[in-house]
Amino acid sequence: SKRQGGHSVQFFTPEMNAEAHDRLQLENELRKALERDEFRLYFQPQWDLDGSTVVGLEALLRWEHPTQGLVGPDRFMATAEHSGLIVPIGNRVLQAACEQGMAWLEQGLLPQRIAVNISSRQFQRQDMTEVISRTLRETGFEAGRLELELTETVLMDNGEDTVTMLRALKTMGVHLAIDDFGTGYSSLAYLKRFPIDRLKIDRSFVMDLTRDSDDAAIVAATIALGHNLNRTVIAEGVETQAQLDFLRQHGCDLVQGYLLSRPLPAEAITELLRAQRAE
Ligand code: C2E
Ligand code: CA
Ligand code: CA
Ligand code: CA
Repeated sequence: SKRQGGHSVQFFTPEMNAEAHDRLQLENELRKALERDEFRLYFQPQWDLDGSTVVGLEALLRWEHPTQGLVGPDRFMATAEHSGLIVPIGNRVLQAACEQGMAWLEQGLLPQRIAVNISSRQFQRQDMTEVISRTLRETGFEAGRLELELTETVLMDNGEDTVTMLRALKTMGVHLAIDDFGTGYSSLAYLKRFPIDRLKIDRSFVMDLTRDSDDAAIVAATIALGHNLNRTVIAEGVETQAQLDFLRQHGCDLVQGYLLSRPLPAEAITELLRAQRAE
């Protein structure tokens, strides 16, 4: 605080040292993981309203750790962000998602879109739109097939530049979604200011939908709001039939969650898409 500012001695407890040490070690491991190409993409299907057709796929990062097996982003994303390593990692994700998209396109299996999560650190870079257009050019993937999932933090951290960057992306033809919608404190302001195509209702609201009438009201209102503003709405974290029924009744456009499918490696998704085509 300001009152302490005059003599700012920092005290490090042994716990803090251990924490800093762990973070540094993880950072070094992440660096090595990049060099050794240990990052993988899993894909989670996004389904249409009746849960019968895969219309999109969200790319989700996994780390194939040499000794610990498959490691999820919750274990390393904070450090990746903090260290800035999320920038090269994120570029790799984008590239891999577009390449995999092209592979599915060539097999006639590509659904409408592939969604990629973008972190604040990536979005803060002046060359972000350039990186995206270069990746699309180099892989041959169509801009209209790419959706970027941006959290409210991403939109909030970038001030004036945000609108400019989002407009540039829209001009390229890239689809934009607000991730974790409703968890920030000025979601409504963003809707007005930014050229967003889709709202993604956060899992925290979907989770208790059928037990908590406040959550039910929030979800119903969000779907209605999105539709009134000509945005499409997707719900994430759908785990039960009752949740799916509620979302269906309220006209949510897309659903994603364990009830319908977990995130899967590309080969398993290929099988799923083949089976769907054969139906
Ligand atoms: P998110 O973008 O909100 O992604 C949804 C998370 O919920 C994923 O966790 C997904 O596996 C999980 N999930 C999906 N359906 C269900 C369900 O029905 N129930 C439950 N309990 N969970 C469900 P995951 O894959 O561990 O990713 C966690 C977070 O890490 C993501 O949250 C996203 O913020 C971040 N992340 C993942 N991949 C990337 C990436 O490539 N780049 C960046 N910047 N962030 C990523
Ligand atoms: Ca997401
Ligand atoms: Ca979420
Ligand atoms: Ca999230």
